[in-house]
Amino acid sequence: MFCFRNQINLHQQHCPKKAVECPVKGCKRIMMREDYNRHISVAAGSHYNLQSAEIQQLRRTIHDKVKNVAFSY
Ligand SMILES: [Zn+2]
Ligand SMILES: [Zn+2]
Repeated sequence: MFCFRNQINLHQQHCPKKAVECPVKGCKRIMMREDYNRHISVAAGSHYNLQSAEIQQLRRTIHDKVKNVAFSY
């Protein structure tokens, strides 16, 4: 992949070699954009675990908030 100087900004937005961070919380994996789709399929299992752990934590937080509200009345 050639990066022409006069197109560099435009190119970097689409460059397959650009580093991107995995959007899944807790994964924090940084990879080249061209590897992103592969990472998503390879890491699907661990992403699922990370996301369900996050959902459980969210539920617990909401539950605690509701409990606190109930106690304050
Ligand atoms: Zn490039
Ligand atoms: Zn990931």
